[in-house]
Amino acid sequence: MKFGTKAIHAGVKPDPATGAIMTPIYQTSTYVQETPGVHKGFGYARGKNPTREALQGSIAALENGKHCICFSSGVAATDAVLKLLSPGDEVIAGENLYGGSYRLFTGIFEKFGIKFHFVNLDEASNCEKFINANTKMIWAETPTNPTMQIADIVALSSISKKHKLILVADNTFASPYLQNPLDLGADIVMHSVTKYISGHSDVVMGALVTNNDELHEKLYFILNTSGANPGPMDSFLVLRGIKTLHLRMERHCFNGRKVAEFLKTHPKIEKVFWPGFQDHPNHEIAKQQMRDYGGMISIVLKDQTIENTFKVAGSFKLFALAESLGGVESLVNHPATMTHGSVPKETREKVGVVDNLLRLSVGVEEIEDIIEDLKQALA
Ligand SMILES: *Cc1c(COP(=O)(O)O)cnc(C)c1O
Repeated sequence: MKFGTKAIHAGVKPDPATGAIMTPIYQTSTYVQETPGVHKGFGYARGKNPTREALQGSIAALENGKHCICFSSGVAATDAVLKLLSPGDEVIAGENLYGGSYRLFTGIFEKFGIKFHFVNLDEASNCEKFINANTKMIWAETPTNPTMQIADIVALSSISKKHKLILVADNTFASPYLQNPLDLGADIVMHSVTKYISGHSDVVMGALVTNNDELHEKLYFILNTSGANPGPMDSFLVLRGIKTLHLRMERHCFNGRKVAEFLKTHPKIEKVFWPGFQDHPNHEIAKQQMRDYGGMISIVLKDQTIENTFKVAGSFKLFALAESLGGVESLVNHPATMTHGSVPKETREKVGVVDNLLRLSVGVEEIEDIIEDLKQALA
């Protein structure tokens, strides 16, 4: 089945009780048992809920995966993956990382004895010199937030397999429409469902997808034991959002390309980060592993002052100044003070997150209005 057909049908079956075409919001915490332990597969809603089951079936299908588990947020999904590890274990993570992932790794898991090496994953072989007997996992985000670096998932997977590591791909920026890391050799795909998958800026949720039965069982144990499960209402909203994922992504990609091309020649702009440009350092890999280049674009302004950057960020009429991304509305974000505020200045500047960088999440509005807004904000 093709992607757009799966987006509409996968995971969702007519409701067995009524025939309702859309899975109902099973707003319940528990299920009545016939005799102790004998029930219809649902015992308590932390572990299982029919609305969530339908959603998990849908996301698994979109990622060409066997299993999906949803969590109450993207960072809760990340937290669950890290709980596969034990004190003394080491992780190699991309140095250009979502700020909240960095905060979780360094602020919580380091305290529990897990060691992180933050490495430039532009070149997969950079990992090798950090691998030792304690290394258990590679954490790769691609494209990265916010400088749109691309990690070669196939190359990382061959290193990961050679050393018997778990390769996790944060696929939030690409969405399953643009890239399927399991097909490229990743062991676990992580999503902040909050972003493109949900798509309407009304839900916070995360997901993990895998083909590995053993990993799935361990992750399910962690979900059920740690309890970061999403609610049925949110599950329903995401299921509804997914039905237009392919349509939204088509427009995000179309608008993204137009915006990137417009900004590239703009006199006030120093640099545009977008993997679709032929002169993007990882363009060839992006071309191989992604179907298109999406609507996430970062720009570096020629004027380096934070005052000017704030002035530009505050001059938009259509782009809303906000955290998050991947919704139907266009958003502008100042990573240095917003999404990456928790990353130390020196660390973030090393990976290009400078004070005069702005990140755009190009929405699905009409392109003429989007360009008009960029023109006036940069004027
Ligand atoms: C937003 C985001 C996360 C965290 O997800 P939440 O749903 O906000 O908890 C993780 N990775 C990336 C790339 C993100 O953009």
